[in-house]
Amino acid sequence: MSESVPIVGIDLGTTYSAAACIQKGRPQIIPAAGGQGIIPSVVHMDRSGRVIVGRDARAALVAMPNRTVAAIKRQMGSDKKVKLGDKEFLPQEISALILKELKDAVDNLLGPGEKEAVITVPAYFNDEQRRATQQAGELAGFVVERIINEPTAAAMAFGLYNMQENRNILVYDLGGGTFDVSVLETLGGILEVKASAGNSLLGGEDFDWLLVNWMAGILKERHGADPLKDLKAKALLKEEAERVKIVLSREEKATASLPVVMFHKNKPLGLEAEISRKEFEEMIEPLLQETLNKVRDALTEAGLEAENIQDVLLVGGSTRIPRVRELLYEIFQKEARKDVHPDEAVALGAAVQAGIKGGNISKDEMIVTDVAPFSMGIAVMDNSFGPNAREGRFSVIIPKNTAIPASRKDTFCTVGDYQTVASIEVYQGEHRWVENNKHLGKFSLEGVPPAPAGEEKIVVEFRYNLNGILEVTAKCLSNNKSMQVVMQDALSRFAREAFQESATSLEALWKNAPGEEEPQAQLDIDSYLDDEDFTVEDKDHQAMEEEARVLLKRAKKLKSAAIGLKRKKLLDIIDLLKGALEGNDSDNLAGAIDEATDLLIDVDV
Ligand code: AMP
Repeated sequence: MSESVPIVGIDLGTTYSAAACIQKGRPQIIPAAGGQGIIPSVVHMDRSGRVIVGRDARAALVAMPNRTVAAIKRQMGSDKKVKLGDKEFLPQEISALILKELKDAVDNLLGPGEKEAVITVPAYFNDEQRRATQQAGELAGFVVERIINEPTAAAMAFGLYNMQENRNILVYDLGGGTFDVSVLETLGGILEVKASAGNSLLGGEDFDWLLVNWMAGILKERHGADPLKDLKAKALLKEEAERVKIVLSREEKATASLPVVMFHKNKPLGLEAEISRKEFEEMIEPLLQETLNKVRDALTEAGLEAENIQDVLLVGGSTRIPRVRELLYEIFQKEARKDVHPDEAVALGAAVQAGIKGGNISKDEMIVTDVAPFSMGIAVMDNSFGPNAREGRFSVIIPKNTAIPASRKDTFCTVGDYQTVASIEVYQGEHRWVENNKHLGKFSLEGVPPAPAGEEKIVVEFRYNLNGILEVTAKCLSNNKSMQVVMQDALSRFAREAFQESATSLEALWKNAPGEEEPQAQLDIDSYLDDEDFTVEDKDHQAMEEEARVLLKRAKKLKSAAIGLKRKKLLDIIDLLKGALEGNDSDNLAGAIDEATDLLIDVDV
């Protein structure tokens, strides 16, 4: 690639994403549409097929949950399609739409044309998840130069200004959907990752769902209604849960307050319930303890004690929860650094990596070495059971926390008399038996000369590259026959033709997205009033009158505590309902109930 191709760093997060690049020698976040640097990782498709990404898509999450996708990162690497409007997409295609939004911002700043990108992933992402991320970048039109680990990126952003001292750093990265911890050492310009651990399915989203279950439990107890069976009610509770969680990071108590969660037996059900920080902390404590176990594992694997760590860096939005700081203080007996921005550090670090590649940062300033976050190996026969040999023992070829890039080989013998095919089953994980590890792929080496069991030798070589992607070669020693496979090669699973087709249709969708002249804020909520989410069943007039009166009562009650714009909205609702109740027109009344319900949902008192 020529040196003149601009290169940027991208944090493709579960909840938020951002792009950054080196400007005037320092990493800077690139402002996206509407001036926001960090955009919500949410994609919405309106009924005309327009794709909307970011803050406005997030606003649509509650009103139109079946036209909006959030937290897609949790599904990366899976083949299961997700529905967006009336179309279906692979997780990497949804991610590609988020990246396209960032690419527009990058083009805006740096001019149109080819761009290279360094994209971050959780250290604990497996091979498939990394490939899906790489593919998302390519589908979005980037040349993906590197995939790097999020905690390493965060440490790079920090290390850029602290490279010459000898320090041990622990990065605790708790985001929306994933948890990662890495232990690193800086010494004389080298940033070395010593160990990584984590859980790619643990994050702030899980805390939200615990609060959703708490709220749903209250509604069930009070009214016998299950809001979790109602898509829209569930989306409302989820949004409220996140709000309550965030309030609890700064206040001792918070109130979950929703004027209308759902309709039950033709009546609107609201929710008003208080929760203390302590109660919330008790709810999430088992998950936080799980993260601490990983912190201890990472320390042990790095061969360090807590007191050897000089800097604790907190990354990811969920580290704003005070209990997280408290628990880490208990372990390290020191406060976490305050000079690391939990939302920006990863993107800024990706920009540092991009800067090294693009020549904006001298390689002498920083050399980074990373590690494999899990062990990789193959399934073999276990002979320790004597004549009852058991299949499926995990034979590790690249052990966890080996510095990468790494290339390791091991020799195995045939197990069957006169077998001519050696089947290579590749796994990653830490368990002695492969059934408990993650299956990465399999292939067969044919043409092994027939011989009694144990006589033919097969050399299996694993090469794990800087992007965390694994290549496996098997070679029969006696005749040099060999076969090489890139595990789950993204472009073989999702063939080149299909890739091109997907890239073209995403581009067409994107062109259909609102442009500069037609700002994104134009989400046409009204056009959804007859959408399936908003359909009000035909009810007889009397039942509707009763419903309208309940809404009126609720609006009046809320009005007494409301101020400003909310109060004005509530007065409008009251007028609207009063007017409809005075007339005798069923259609009018149904429309007013509908509108009042939506307005009440909007009024967050
Ligand atoms: P990230 O993936 O790093 O963007 O982190 C996003 C997660 O951080 C989401 O689950 C947010 O709800 C959560 N989050 C953001 N701010 C706060 C806060 N003040 N308190 C608790 N969680 C937060």
